Amino acid sequence: MSKALESRFEHLSVNDENEPPSNDTYYQMTKGTHSSKASTSGSTSTTQLANNPNRSNLLKYALQNSNGSSPRKCQGSVSIVSSSRTSTEGGSAVQRTSLYEQPSAPKKFHLGMFEIGKPLGKGKFGRVYLARERSTGFVCALKVLHKSELVQGKVEKQLRREIEIQSNLRHPNILRLYGHFHDSKRVFLILEFAGNGELYKHLRKENRFPEWKAAQYIAQMAAALKYLHKKHVIHRDIKPENILVGIHGEIKISDFGWSVHAPNNRRNTMCGTLDYLPPEMLKPGSQDNYYNEKVDLWSLGVLTYEFLVGEAPFEDTPVMTQRRIKRGEMKVPSFVSPEAKDLIKRLLVLDPEKRISLDEVQQHPWIIKHCLKGERAHKRSSGNKE
Ligand code: ATP
Ligand code: MG
Repeated sequence: MSKALESRFEHLSVNDENEPPSNDTYYQMTKGTHSSKASTSGSTSTTQLANNPNRSNLLKYALQNSNGSSPRKCQGSVSIVSSSRTSTEGGSAVQRTSLYEQPSAPKKFHLGMFEIGKPLGKGKFGRVYLARERSTGFVCALKVLHKSELVQGKVEKQLRREIEIQSNLRHPNILRLYGHFHDSKRVFLILEFAGNGELYKHLRKENRFPEWKAAQYIAQMAAALKYLHKKHVIHRDIKPENILVGIHGEIKISDFGWSVHAPNNRRNTMCGTLDYLPPEMLKPGSQDNYYNEKVDLWSLGVLTYEFLVGEAPFEDTPVMTQRRIKRGEMKVPSFVSPEAKDLIKRLLVLDPEKRISLDEVQQHPWIIKHCLKGERAHKRSSGNKE
């Protein structure tokens, strides 16, 4: 690996989020546990963790990495990350960061800090391993990417974006990226461990989900997308393959960055998955500014359909899929309940502006019917009034 190449990765910096970590599932792993059985606890409170000196150690590392001293340099990603961040916000970040005690010399992650466990899977550009941070016992997933392959695949920029975006997100239904580091040949991403693997595999195994389960997944998706859109992040690649499942069965959206600037390319190069493309992205000459966060609403409609039916609504030959998407041509089978059908129809609307909003999704009778009771109970027990 050439020195020049290495130095290009030297600048892979994680940017400041201007926000302290929220009270959600920030640190879920129980110390010293390796097995998925005892490795997570979604109900572990931040207070508990803060009281544990070992755990707060890694918390500090992560904070240093994501709330580090380097100024935010995300302007290159304005098309996905908000361009509305003001310097005032940047100023308050400095203040807020100081709320968290940080040793003067920032510590860096390196491979020796981790015990590497079983392989969790293989992606296009690397492998993912179960890992444990030695000093804290913190269990995570370590994604190993080879620099040469990233260069060959011309995806260094996308990786930077993925790191920039994902490390700034904190939501229970979005996979955390705690930090990253690299050696001469590889880049390592320290990811939250999703104990139940890929949602796609669960869907294939069950063929289709019962309505209660689909509704609960869609409610979690809506909450995660609301959070993303509030931060001016458009995922643009929502599909079961990009959703992982946590140890408590909760979903975790992953795969940020890759899709953001070249969604069409990626879909075309990857198994021809046109199924989730919204009609406005099929318009000739469509560019970033031709579509907005409403693309994720269309994909949410496709996802709802696929969860309930077992296949995507426009699944066909590539030419036919495109044609049918442009016309919004699909049929919801009769075994799907009228309420679910209603939600699908309100999401799969050709005009992006006429699609139901995420707030309305959360209030939709189908979601209320299957989720509200559990949500209320959860909120009561967690004291979360949001
Ligand atoms: P792509 O290269 O397009 O992102 P991918 O999403 O399949 O493809 P990776 O993100 O590299 O590839 O992940 C490979 C596999 O490893 C996943 O399919 C999943 O099964 C597993 N995996 C990845 N990240 C985690 C994680 N955080 N927790 C648990 N399993 C994971
Ligand atoms: Mg992936």
